[in-house]
Amino acid sequence: MTVDYQPMWQELGLDLQAHDDLLQGLGTAYQDIFLSQKNRPRGMAYLDFVMREVHGLRIKELLDAKKTGRKVIGAFCVFVPEEIVLAADAILVGLCTGADFAMEEVEKILPRNTCSLIKSAFGFKLSRVCPYLEAADMVVGENTCDGKKKSYEQLLELIPNLYVMDLPQQKTEDGRHLLRQEYRRFLQVMEELSGVEITVDRLRRGIELTNNKRWALQRLTRLRAANPVPISGLDVLLINQVAFYDDPQRFTESINKLCDELEERIQQKIGAFPADTPKIMLSGCPMAVPNWKLPSLIERSGAVVVGEESCVGERGWRNLTATAGNTVDELLNAIVDRYFQVDCAVFTPNPDRERHVAEMCRDYQADGVIHYSLQFCQPYIIESMPMERRLNDQGSNFLRIETDYSQEDVGQLQTRIEAFIEIIS
Ligand code: SF4
Ligand code: SF4
Repeated sequence: MTVDYQPMWQELGLDLQAHDDLLQGLGTAYQDIFLSQKNRPRGMAYLDFVMREVHGLRIKELLDAKKTGRKVIGAFCVFVPEEIVLAADAILVGLCTGADFAMEEVEKILPRNTCSLIKSAFGFKLSRVCPYLEAADMVVGENTCDGKKKSYEQLLELIPNLYVMDLPQQKTEDGRHLLRQEYRRFLQVMEELSGVEITVDRLRRGIELTNNKRWALQRLTRLRAANPVPISGLDVLLINQVAFYDDPQRFTESINKLCDELEERIQQKIGAFPADTPKIMLSGCPMAVPNWKLPSLIERSGAVVVGEESCVGERGWRNLTATAGNTVDELLNAIVDRYFQVDCAVFTPNPDRERHVAEMCRDYQADGVIHYSLQFCQPYIIESMPMERRLNDQGSNFLRIETDYSQEDVGQLQTRIEAFIEIIS
């Protein structure tokens, strides 16, 4: 029996017609891109279920949790520490910024040459189609790139419960101090909002839950180095996307179960693609739901994606947080240490990112790297140039792509990707 979620969406204040259009578009794209894949692991059925219920059951769970007093926090960036949110018995959800919506309205507020990711956040809010945004008790923005920083000043008018976190731009002692101050302030805000005192035990539990999730994703990544590759890059992208809004414990269990299955597939030499399919690593801007364009083009053109150096990917969960510490302050330091290693392109200088891309390319035995930047994203576009030089110097194939969320450039991208795959094959 299908559940009628319309009353729930109405209560959240969604624009039901626009929301129906969104779900319809999502459903068709999901069918074409994900469900049409061959040789998928059985464990992907869980992810298909989560996606089917992305605006249904999961939202109901969040609203039920809210009725018991728990708070829902929406976030746009991996610098928002889930450990602290969980320690306050609250729930963190990543907010989708992966599709164009209400662009005409958005461009009355933001310049046209703003990246799609930022515009998407405004579009989802203006058109009232995101139940996560509407269910959130607090939305956390963060001062990373200039586009985000300045746009939050405008977003505050649309989302009065927006809380903005300052972030360092340099990995110096002063930068670390700033991050610590900001996480301390965030911890206090979370205590006030939730009415829960964050104790050592609660914080350690938050760290453990988050680490377990990251550990399962690390395990999944290691399995992708097998030949034939046991799972498509598209399916792993989906897993990385779902990691931002599913219940962390349930998600971790499902991914570990999927990894057990992938280990069996590797033993039996069952692949999502034939053995020796050209392997590609992606690097660059995050790909939020439902931004599936580039991996879908790559895998339809005869290659498989084996790694993502991205916040929706390895950059987001590569590092774990230490659990040793007897005081909240000590654990907070461990959290700062962990997040301070995130090598987002907004840091200057940012040598770790280049090193990571080179390492991943070698570890996953990728035949080539495709660098993905959203148009107008200066931090990632500018970093792609020295990155290309470094990867070329080490003999790795490299392709730079700048795109947005529209489908206008699909034909042109496909031609470039096919030519690249021919070179690396
Ligand atoms: S790319 Fe940078 S700003 Fe964007 S989500 Fe990642 S850490 Fe945050
Ligand atoms: S994609 Fe680039 S420009 Fe857009 S928000 Fe992220 S860092 Fe900023």
